[in-house]
Amino acid sequence: MAQPKYLTGDIAAINEFLDRFDVFLLDCDGVIWSGDHVFEGVVETLELLRSRGKKTVFVTNNSTKSREEYLKKFTGLGIPTNTEEIFGSAYSSAIYISRILKQEAPRNKVFVLGEAGIENELRSENIPFVGGTDPSFRRDITPEDWTGIADGSLLDPDVGCVLAGLDLHINYLKLSHALQYLRRGAVFLATNVDSTFPMNHNFFPGAGSISFPLAYMTGQQPLALGKPSQAMMDAIEGKFQLDRARTCMVGDRLNTDIKFGIEGKLGGTLAVLTGVNKQADWEAADAVAVPAFYVDKLSDIGAVAHD
Ligand code: PLP
Ligand code: CA
Repeated sequence: MAQPKYLTGDIAAINEFLDRFDVFLLDCDGVIWSGDHVFEGVVETLELLRSRGKKTVFVTNNSTKSREEYLKKFTGLGIPTNTEEIFGSAYSSAIYISRILKQEAPRNKVFVLGEAGIENELRSENIPFVGGTDPSFRRDITPEDWTGIADGSLLDPDVGCVLAGLDLHINYLKLSHALQYLRRGAVFLATNVDSTFPMNHNFFPGAGSISFPLAYMTGQQPLALGKPSQAMMDAIEGKFQLDRARTCMVGDRLNTDIKFGIEGKLGGTLAVLTGVNKQADWEAADAVAVPAFYVDKLSDIGAVAHD
């Protein structure tokens, strides 16, 4: 397979690269920041892109925050943006449910396995939900639960969809409710199915670890609405009216970001080496995706003279 072009330090190649695109879809963790640490030169690089008339959109699989909550994070880290430029998997899921699924009352409630970010995005699309951060689900299963879940008396008859994101309080009670809803025909969605996510120089269970047990129990796969799902790409294209041929996906992870850009038939993909994947990963015989370009860090594409 063709190997990517290395742009770091090659000013002519960087300028040529920048000229090819009008829109940059930027993954967040591993590209813009690592946890709460912004990578050096990111603010200046975004400024350069914008000064050259490029549209920047932040595309993250982390469903634990809504766009409003992300805006606070960006602002707190000194990165100028607005909610219109932020596209997270919780938002992607909410707009899929309201604009594509369009479930009608009364069976239009969502059973949520996840955190407040999902709930806030569902609220912003006026989608009713149960589960989520409701404290009554954060406990051990009781004899009454075994009976009431089995006979349906403890289930909400209006649930038509199960949405699984990263749920830091996942437990047997929630899984039991979700299983019953799926057995009753609820649509199975996942904000994203990342296997793990990086934190503190190590890895923790990702959102896939919440939906996969349900896939195992039911034999059904969820429709995932984060990268690399093309449902997310379609939603981004619809919102920003972007020309795919003049759009570049920038990311640190081959199986989410780079695959997302390739399957979306974007004009280019740029891998950065400040996150999960390294050069050896795309050089491997079984590489899941190979980027078109790569740099050591995002600010390397900003290392050209300002116009
Ligand atoms: N999911 C969770 C829960 C995360 O915390 C992260 C990164 O911090 C991700 C997914 C990956 O996010 P991104 O798509 O911005 O790399
Ligand atoms: Ca990332």
